[in-house]
Amino acid sequence: MKREKEEEMKKKNEERKEQERLNKLKAESHKEELTCNICLEIFYKPVSIIPCLHSFCGGCLSDWIKKSKECPHCRKQGTQVQKSHNMQNMTELFIKENPEEDRSDEEKKHNDDKDIFTHETYNIEQPSAAVPQRGLFGGLFGMINNNNP
Ligand SMILES: [Zn+2]
Ligand SMILES: [Zn+2]
Repeated sequence: MKREKEEEMKKKNEERKEQERLNKLKAESHKEELTCNICLEIFYKPVSIIPCLHSFCGGCLSDWIKKSKECPHCRKQGTQVQKSHNMQNMTELFIKENPEEDRSDEEKKHNDDKDIFTHETYNIEQPSAAVPQRGLFGGLFGMINNNNP
């Protein structure tokens, strides 16, 4: 009976080791997926663009989105930016297995300072919808004022 338990423990231990090895392999094979296309480093606080779902560091995309509403990777017009918990988890796992890929505290702070995606979702302003509305409203006001004696 005791012997059986020992065997079981040994088997469990081996299974755990195998799982760790697989996790590591998985993380390594994901390095490319976990690389930001803007800074070419492993993600830091990754976010994804909707609808194309390409991911970038929050700080990197914050700089970009001020200049362009298009995805830096595929150039598709974005409507929203969402925090990517999936990528965050994979990044954390990867960093745990490859601590040398982690950024310095200074770099992290620099990224945090830039990061405008502090909420779960961020709506990308759609210029084609917002601007003409204001123009129309202003135009109506102008007409009413002109008609008054
Ligand atoms: Zn980046
Ligand atoms: Zn894209």
